[in-house]
Amino acid sequence: MKIYGKSEVRRSLLMMKNSGRFVQSLIFTGAKGTGKHTLSVFTAQLRLCKTPLPDGAPCGECRDCRRIAEKIHPDVIYPEKTGVNKIYSRDTIRRVCADAYIKPSDGDLKIYIFEDFDTTESLSQNVLLKIIEDPPEGAGFIFTAFDKSVFLPTVLSRSVTLDLPETTKDEARLALREALEDKGKYTYEQIENAVSIFGGNIGNSVEFLENGPIARKYEAVINLTEALWANDEYRLLTAIHGVGDDRQTLKSVFMMWNKVLRDCTVYSAGITQFMGCYPEGARKLSNKLTKRRCEKIYRSVEDFIRRCDTNMNSSICAAALIADIM
Ligand SMILES: [Zn+2]
Repeated sequence: MKIYGKSEVRRSLLMMKNSGRFVQSLIFTGAKGTGKHTLSVFTAQLRLCKTPLPDGAPCGECRDCRRIAEKIHPDVIYPEKTGVNKIYSRDTIRRVCADAYIKPSDGDLKIYIFEDFDTTESLSQNVLLKIIEDPPEGAGFIFTAFDKSVFLPTVLSRSVTLDLPETTKDEARLALREALEDKGKYTYEQIENAVSIFGGNIGNSVEFLENGPIARKYEAVINLTEALWANDEYRLLTAIHGVGDDRQTLKSVFMMWNKVLRDCTVYSAGITQFMGCYPEGARKLSNKLTKRRCEKIYRSVEDFIRRCDTNMNSSICAAALIADIM
């Protein structure tokens, strides 16, 4: 498995393995699309591959490596997320704790991969803590999250956290071409377009090309920007309604939009390093809004994003946000 633009992280993982002291609890943090899933798979292969390469990296071809990549390895377990909010419940975590004491089916290690751990409540993390403090010999844990602040300090202190940087645009281009253009899946132009929108974020580019949820989120960000540019309250409301009621979708759309607003603020200060997916929109907005107003909108949106993690009523909050912005 080729890992693009994460040479530092890859090196750390190999060092841990080759020293014979692999941590039992590993955390990958980074924005969506930065390779957390890919690195979790790589780590599981690294630990379970029976025919590694000379540098210790997994071969990617043996039965274990293949089954891990296909998510069918009996000793690489993805605990279930449940409920409307799709979270790791206390019951699920209790089951994992009990299961960790049962011997692995194949080798001598079982790996539990908790993906997108962000919304896991402190109480559930407390249950988990017991097993992380004193893990059984044959169990390893991998967590992925947007930010390490979601973990209890006690969980963090017993884990190694590796933060995943975004790759550069060139690395992303190379990765996408090797994976997609060479197979004739997408043209050079389509790939260039995706990289121009999502920069070094390979995961988002792939999702966009495959017309996944991010394509609609991108559309929503454009609508919001255009509505704000036109100073059109009704259009703004329609744009928000178009996203739907799901709080996590709203959150991720507004996080994307806030990067555009951030770009708008820094652009008017003469900085042209864009982070958002719509640089053209940021430039347009900065011609129209004063820096002060843009900063105020940015803060209101930030507030709205925070509320997405609470039990808010989406419609009421959206209306309040618009009142704040316009
Ligand atoms: Zn292998």
